Amino acid sequence: MKWRRKRHEFDDYVTKIPQGFHERVFVFGAGQLGKTMGICLNAFGLLGGYIDNNAILHGTFLIGKPILSLKEYLEKNSKVAIVIATSKKYSGEIGKQLNNFNLEHKKDYFFYEEFNDKILPSIATYCFDKTFMRLAQITLTERCSLKCKKCAHACYNVKSTAEDMTLFEAYKSADSFFSKIDFINEFVLIGGEPLLYRNLSDVITYIGERYRRQMAVFCITTNGTIFPTKEVLEACRKYNILFRISNYSKAIPRLKESYNKLIDALEEYGIKYNLAPEDGSWIDYGFEYFDREMNEEGLIQAFDNCLTPCREVRGNKLYFCVMARSVSDNLNIHEGKEDYLDLDKLIGEDYKKELLEFNLGFSEKGYLDMCRRCHGMNAVNYPVPVAEQIDNTKIGE
Ligand code: SF4
Ligand code: SF4
Repeated sequence: MKWRRKRHEFDDYVTKIPQGFHERVFVFGAGQLGKTMGICLNAFGLLGGYIDNNAILHGTFLIGKPILSLKEYLEKNSKVAIVIATSKKYSGEIGKQLNNFNLEHKKDYFFYEEFNDKILPSIATYCFDKTFMRLAQITLTERCSLKCKKCAHACYNVKSTAEDMTLFEAYKSADSFFSKIDFINEFVLIGGEPLLYRNLSDVITYIGERYRRQMAVFCITTNGTIFPTKEVLEACRKYNILFRISNYSKAIPRLKESYNKLIDALEEYGIKYNLAPEDGSWIDYGFEYFDREMNEEGLIQAFDNCLTPCREVRGNKLYFCVMARSVSDNLNIHEGKEDYLDLDKLIGEDYKKELLEFNLGFSEKGYLDMCRRCHGMNAVNYPVPVAEQIDNTKIGE
């Protein structure tokens, strides 16, 4: 979307969000996702409590808030404002359950992603003069211990001797980001393979010490091939880091052993982890071969249909799409170099509204140069096997 009324794009939208969501919100689902949602709402004083269908939980508390049955919630609250925060497997059923009580989607309740992506960020800025974002990451290194043919960041083309982000730039990235973002749902250290980054424990400590209170989830996404050092494990324990382990054992069976070893160490240190399911498929964005002629209107439409949630901070630069930035660099395409928001230049009254708008897809051009080379939304129609490796690992060596 192209900016037409910069710093005023959401003026009308916010007035249409039902009033209850500006005041006191209940989270349906007292599991891990519900807890994370509750922490984000609590950052703005908006969390009223929880609703859960599990009767064993009724009368207990989660992050200091009561867990009620739906019936009890409706009896006690005249204004209804619910966010369903459960896995997709259950959220549809819960939606139907709420409909049966004459509650309406987008009036009385929202689903987790739509609420977290757009509604909470808008309320945070317009009602509390704060900024909230769902997801952002720092790419510490583009080097990787694997060479996946369809790596969405094209890390297969990065030499093992390539320079990583400097420690200074990693610190600067966090400083710039958290000077402008008050609270984030999930902040991620990624790569390439982030455990290859020599100063990883320093980065965790720096960010953890200064900014842990500004995030609900602080995590590292790893392919699980590198065993963390003692310093990294200790820093992860101290700052409550979640390890998200990609599961490539179907494509590379030997990784099972690495995962077991890593999980043993994480359990010993009491560090939370999530091992992804081994099944599934990836999608092919097509960056290496796709290159279409498109006019401005077509590019804006392609970008608007996509609206990826993957923000990246690099020094003072906030990129809307980490894939676009990293593929452009790693494949030496050199396109879209200016497609970022300069966090250090966000000043003046209402800069938070500009940040909100950028995060929700507004910019001067209304698209990224790399969108021309990307299947975007249609990438789901191009499934590819997970983590298929390049046979001849000469690329990038
Ligand atoms: S593990 Fe594969 S997908 Fe992940 S960064 Fe490395 S090469 Fe890319
Ligand atoms: S269309 Fe592709 S390049 Fe453009 S924002 Fe989406 S994922 Fe990124």
